[in-house]
Amino acid sequence: MTLQQPSFTYEAQPMRVVFGVGSLGQLPQEAERLGLRRLLVLSTPGQCVLAEHAAGLLGDACVGLFTEARMHVPVEVAEAARMAARDTGADGCLAIGGGSTIGLGKAIALESGLPVITVPTTYAGSEMTPVWGLTEHGRKRTGRDRAVLPRSVVYDPELTLRLPVDVSVTSAFNAIAHAVEALYAPDASPIVSLMAEEGVRSLATALPIIAADALDLEARTDALRGAWLCGACLGATTMSLHHKLCHILGGTFDLPHAATHTVLLPYVAAFNLPAAPAAEQALRRALATDDVPKHLAHAAADLGAPCSLAELGLTERDFDEITAQAQAQPYANPRPVTEEALRSLLTDALNGNLVP
Ligand code: NAD
Repeated sequence: MTLQQPSFTYEAQPMRVVFGVGSLGQLPQEAERLGLRRLLVLSTPGQCVLAEHAAGLLGDACVGLFTEARMHVPVEVAEAARMAARDTGADGCLAIGGGSTIGLGKAIALESGLPVITVPTTYAGSEMTPVWGLTEHGRKRTGRDRAVLPRSVVYDPELTLRLPVDVSVTSAFNAIAHAVEALYAPDASPIVSLMAEEGVRSLATALPIIAADALDLEARTDALRGAWLCGACLGATTMSLHHKLCHILGGTFDLPHAATHTVLLPYVAAFNLPAAPAAEQALRRALATDDVPKHLAHAAADLGAPCSLAELGLTERDFDEITAQAQAQPYANPRPVTEEALRSLLTDALNGNLVP
């Protein structure tokens, strides 16, 4: 009997990763390796002390700091950062922080082509993708461009020890969502599926340990490794309904990014997995469950995450706008997304129907 092998295309992203406890100390060598001598260091206001520390490590190779990164990269913040890069004559950026800061580095790279080094401190995974996002007039635009792909990623689990448990949980669900959608993406491949399954397993195993002891360095290391894998999945595949809805809820309704992923994921999984049996099998193995959507919803609730879109401030009145946007420019999806199905999914997520 001949085994039927699926055909697929897999394009690896040319990513350099430095991973390990204390690897922040290797920043100067990473900059030197890339020939960068005038880095602009980026962060959110809340992480400016860490940014100053990184600037100190870079010494003369740092020409300035821009510490105003904000969620979803508002265009006016991107413009201010681009101006700072021009004014300081930067030859590259160091983005140290979560997806918001890394997104700002990408916005600079998109316009100027300046190389970006990233030091991720959450599990969002943006550092692994050529995906950029910019928000203007309440709409988030996203796109893919090789120019924004970070040249070097320094993962230091020590930097995640102070990530608050609630943010750690929602950020990890954000990462898990990348893996879930990669498993049923139109351009899924066995390589990506391996990364997705292991990424979900690492994060799901580490999370309860982190919730009990945020300073557990081994669990933090496992979670960051899982986040890397899940981010790589997002970078390698096309996003589907879940990411589309999260972009609308974040861009238009200003819902918090990671928490929105956390609430919505079980409901999109409940809708999509019946049409994606291989993805469902992989997730059952990774999560050690027979009911993936329910397991995701209950795990999030047990870890103290928000459980309904209503908790995040959404109301049924918002459904018209969401369904209109989702259907105007739909992403690929394993199941056809009718307006009726979308409203039903949103109603369940609004009320947190999978959580008792
Ligand atoms: P974030 O970057 O906004 O960080 C959340 C908060 O946590 C911020 O206040 C930040 O200062 C703080 N923080 C971050 N790391 C910390 C740490 N280790 N210790 C203490 N505080 C810390 O949130 P996020 O969820 O990482 O990123 C969300 C953004 O990333 C969204 O805009 C989303 O669209 C984008 N994103 C993009 C991609 C992509 O591929 N382009 C992928 C995932 C997320």
